[in-house]
Formats: sequence, C-alpha cells, structure tokens
Amino acid sequence: MTSSPNAGPVVSFKEVRKVYNDDGLEVTAIKSVTFDIPSRRFAMIVGPSGSGKTTLLNLIGCIDAPTAGQLEVCGQNVGLLRDNAMTDFRSRNIAFVFQSFNLLPVLTAYENVEYPLLLLGIPAPERRKQTMAMLESVGLVDQRDHRPNQLSGGQKQRVAIARALVKKPALILADEPTANLDSRTGAEIIALMHKVQEEHSASFIFSTHDPQLMSHADEIFVIRDGELAEHRAGRPN
Ligand code: ADP
Ligand code: MG
Repeated sequence: MTSSPNAGPVVSFKEVRKVYNDDGLEVTAIKSVTFDIPSRRFAMIVGPSGSGKTTLLNLIGCIDAPTAGQLEVCGQNVGLLRDNAMTDFRSRNIAFVFQSFNLLPVLTAYENVEYPLLLLGIPAPERRKQTMAMLESVGLVDQRDHRPNQLSGGQKQRVAIARALVKKPALILADEPTANLDSRTGAEIIALMHKVQEEHSASFIFSTHDPQLMSHADEIFVIRDGELAEHRAGRPN
C-alpha cells in the first residue's frame, strides 16, 4: 500500500487532452478535462460508447500518456516518469480487473490469487494467509481448487477481483467490469467490489454504461464526447 495522503485526490486531471493519431488521422478522444477523483471512494466513470471512458482509464492506469496537460495519480505526476519508473510505479500502486478476467487457465482459483504474491517474493506462510483471506472476502473458499473452466462467469470475475486486491494496491481500475455478465451477476459483482472497497479502503475507479450499476457509486463522473459533463457526489466522504 502506498502512503498517498488521506486528504488528497487519488487522481488529478489538469487540462488533460488525448488525441489518437492513426496513420495521420487524428481523433480527439479527450478534449480538455480538469477534475479530481477523491481517494478511498467507489468512483464510476459513466458515459455512452465512444465518449472516452476507456481512454481515461488507460491514462489513469499509465497504459497510455496524455497528449497535453498534467495528470497526477496517487500524488505522483506521472508525466515525469520514464519507462522503468513508470512500470515500477504501476506495479506498486495500481491493479486492473480485466473484463475478460485474464485468469491463467492451468492454475486453480487459489493459485491465480496467490500468483501476484509469488511474483513479489512473499514467503509461503504469509502468502497462504493473504490468499485465503482474499478468497474468503470474495466468497470463493469452497471453489479454491477449481480451474477457471470449472467456474461461472461471476466466479471468474470474483477470482479476478481477489487477484487484483491481494497485493493491497492503493488504486483498483476496472473497465466495464460487468459487461460480460448477466445483469443479476453484474449487480452482485458490483456489490461485492463495494464491500471489498470498504474493507480495504482502497480507491476504486471503474467505467460503465449500465445505469443500473450507478446506484452503488460514491462518486459519478459523466463523460460525454470527451468532456466532463457532470459530477455527482454520493455518500459523504
Ligand atoms: P469508450 O470507452 O467510452 O467507449 P473510448 O475511450 O474507447 O470510449 O474512445 C473514445 C474515442 O476515441 C472514440 O471516438 C474512439 O473511436 C477513439 N479511439 C479510442 N481508441 C483509439 C485508438 N487507439 N486510435 C484511434 N482512435 C481511438
Ligand atoms: Mg470502453
């Protein structure tokens, strides 16, 4: 976990623009956005398809760099980081929950969740404790020996959430995490992520175009045509 100060925002956009250039054809995905996303909240970026949600998440996740403007993530001006420092910053602070789950098919649910801790060189007893605690948190202790192909879509998503959270990142990002789930499973997964957010007091930011899911949000940022159209705060911080 990073020492991002309690009070500061987890993400700060200052006149951030993103223009894609494909073979000379320019597409302005983000026009010029200036806004903060408070830390330790359950924040949603909402908007129709093509509005710029994925672009914003890729900028926050340091997968892509702004064309102009300044972006701070966990108190760090990420524009100042060079390749290695960027990779290091990302692996220490940020986790992604992928829509396609990205689980390793030959590993069990337990091993998938344990994997990030293996990479960090955490000793076995501590690894076991943290892995089991995470499986418990997402309600998958009984399925721990199942491989991904023996799990439902919702269960796979739970494994993906547990794997993202096991290293206790300061910031968890998910791009339309419920898009491949039926609406009931989607609502369950959102409720679970909210519970886990409160337990771990991490910052969650995810995108959705499903208005049904917005009722769970602490903060809603509505994006339209690459601009911030509206910000609504939910429960008091
Ligand atoms: P959303 O996730 O809200 O559907 P995106 O961020 O994916 O929106 O896309 C925003 C705009 O940027 C769209 O017009 C899209 O076509 C364009 N875009 C996204 N990625 C690229 C890319 N790699 N190259 C060119 N244009 C892109
Ligand atoms: Mg998208």
